[in-house]
Amino acid sequence: MKTKVIRMNPQELDMEGIREAGEILRQGGLVAFPTETVYGLGGNGLDPQASAKIYRAKGRPSDNPLIIHIADMEDLEKIVKEVPESAKKLASVYWPGPLTMIFQKSDIVPYETTGGMDTVAVRMPDHPLAQALIRAGGGYVAAPSANTSGRPSPTMASHVEEDLDGKIDMILDGGPVGIGLESTIVDFTEEIPTILRPGHITKNMIAKVIGTVQMDAGLSGLDQSVKPKAPGMKYRHYAPKASMTVIQGKKEAVIRRIEELAAEYPKEKVGILAADETLSCYTHGQVVSAGSRNEHTIEQGLYRALREFDHMGVSVIFSESFADDDRSEAIMNRLLKAAGQKIEYLSDK
Ligand code: AMP
Ligand code: MG
Repeated sequence: MKTKVIRMNPQELDMEGIREAGEILRQGGLVAFPTETVYGLGGNGLDPQASAKIYRAKGRPSDNPLIIHIADMEDLEKIVKEVPESAKKLASVYWPGPLTMIFQKSDIVPYETTGGMDTVAVRMPDHPLAQALIRAGGGYVAAPSANTSGRPSPTMASHVEEDLDGKIDMILDGGPVGIGLESTIVDFTEEIPTILRPGHITKNMIAKVIGTVQMDAGLSGLDQSVKPKAPGMKYRHYAPKASMTVIQGKKEAVIRRIEELAAEYPKEKVGILAADETLSCYTHGQVVSAGSRNEHTIEQGLYRALREFDHMGVSVIFSESFADDDRSEAIMNRLLKAAGQKIEYLSDK
């Protein structure tokens, strides 16, 4: 299959291109598109065959459900059984935006889209191109991140091409995304609303709107016997090809320890994941910055940085910890998943 790429400025939509992409979705085909979080791989969420194609293109395990994207609030009721008051409140503040909510699904939503579950995940993205595509495509676009399963999510169209060129009908290139990590997922089918995946919208931000909210016990990854409730969170994920270890502690100690570890490998084979502020502190290895701690751009640059290591062909990566960032919940969740939970804690001395 030849993948057609259409470039467009999200502020000046090429409506002819959007119409063509929407037609592909209506015919059961696949279109990758930018959202404010990461690039999504879209198919008609109400068409079981389109969902099956998404799983095939990504190599995604079939028990890992897809998120259905909508553009208008009135479209929600058709795909869910009921929307609790607290979810309506949260939607009124954070939709459109990087927030996914889980409800009991209605009969119209095929099990092929929900990975066999009776619940459905729904999001309303805050991106003009995504919204226009959803409307042109019939209103219900199932879209996981547009990467090969297991790899870091795409934050620009070239990442999508790297993974999916020749496997999907079209890529809409709207430039780099703004946020860079996937949406926060909140499950409203639990008695207490539960965060199944941390994201740009933090637990505190949610608690301010709806009061009580809890973190899924399986999220920390520390207790292997407690499985995360979002099926996708149990897989090694967001991962570069090389094996990665995160080093956490005081800044100077972390730099010293990473230098020591890096020296055990040939310079071209070892990757170091740092920040703009620490980039020049290393003398050995291939150093990549995820972004600036001071300017809060780590969230935006993390996946790009992980993909850079793949391009360099390093065989081992040592990463600074970003547990001090104001989006640390989401950043550390993805970083530790990418590292297969390998972390070394340095004592304070
Ligand atoms: P992605 O589309 O790659 O961002 O992944 C979507 C995430 O949402 C995965 O971690 C899924 O397991 C999770 N998810 C989607 N639908 C549900 C659902 N009905 N219940 C629990 N988790 C879900
Ligand atoms: Mg994904």
